[in-house]
Amino acid sequence: MKPGKGEPSPDICAQCSVAVGPREGRLVAVPDSSFISPLTPRLDGKRLLLVCSPEHAHAMHGAYQRRPFVEEELWDGKLTRALRGMNLDEWPTGVTVEALAQASGLTPEQVERAVQWSLRRWQGLQP
Ligand SMILES: [Zn+2]
Repeated sequence: MKPGKGEPSPDICAQCSVAVGPREGRLVAVPDSSFISPLTPRLDGKRLLLVCSPEHAHAMHGAYQRRPFVEEELWDGKLTRALRGMNLDEWPTGVTVEALAQASGLTPEQVERAVQWSLRRWQGLQP
């Protein structure tokens, strides 16, 4: 049955792809260093997934626990978000590590490690 006008269309379970109605599903937070929340920094590194059942919540936890959690990847995401909010025209000679740290909430050491990680990734030295 197609949803009527004004009714939300069902979402899909992240594990089995079954349609999940608005009151049928449950959200599960899984660790994912590639996830940066656009609105809520405390959710950085925690991807929210919709699932249809407790069993599929457990399955998604298992799947994401096998994915490496790379701190530098998380910090790189925080840097990218911070850079989007900065006016780079105000930094004609380049943004300093200290300014990036202040804008992102990271330490200068974390900024440097994230930048090195990103550079190695761009050079194809790591996946
Ligand atoms: Zn499911």
